Amino acid sequence: MALGGNLGDVRVTFERALQWLNSEPNIAVEAVSAFHETVAVGIAGEDASQPAYLNGVARITTALSPLDLLRVLQQVELAAGRDRSASAIRWAPRRLDLDLLLFGDAGELVLGHRTLTLPHPRLAERAFVLTPLAELNPDLVHPVTGATVAQLAARLPEH
Ligand code: ADP
Ligand code: MG
Repeated sequence: MALGGNLGDVRVTFERALQWLNSEPNIAVEAVSAFHETVAVGIAGEDASQPAYLNGVARITTALSPLDLLRVLQQVELAAGRDRSASAIRWAPRRLDLDLLLFGDAGELVLGHRTLTLPHPRLAERAFVLTPLAELNPDLVHPVTGATVAQLAARLPEH
């Protein structure tokens, strides 16, 4: 799971979200990466008018189906004060964004559902996700590209 946010005290929001998830009977938070700051990306590239994003990833064990887990993540986003109607504007500032990156014991699930795509469609190109994911699980294989997380992270353009 990826955590992102750029409004409010994001570190506190992340900690609360992880506590909430861990308190769910069917969810255990197993490991959490360091949280990294990233310059916000707007429609026209870097957007200095928005506060920087904080990003991290967590490894979760769950008995829930992927869609049920996504529903729980969306409840936690809402509880964190994210206004989903306002965020109809994509890339709008937000308190908390929780995305599913990979699913399955080896991250092997491939799913193309109306409301859930696995692996996450932008996983392979996002440094702010790949870097913390490589901290937790460098050897996970992306089931569509066949590359490990460490290989994908090494392939990112220099910045
Ligand atoms: P984004 O995360 O792309 O910035 P949102 O958080 O608003 O934008 O998500 C928009 C929709 O993306 C969600 O309503 C959800 O149904 C869908 N979605 C598809 N695949 C995933 C995934 N792997 N993780 C989280 N949401 C996903
Ligand atoms: Mg999201």
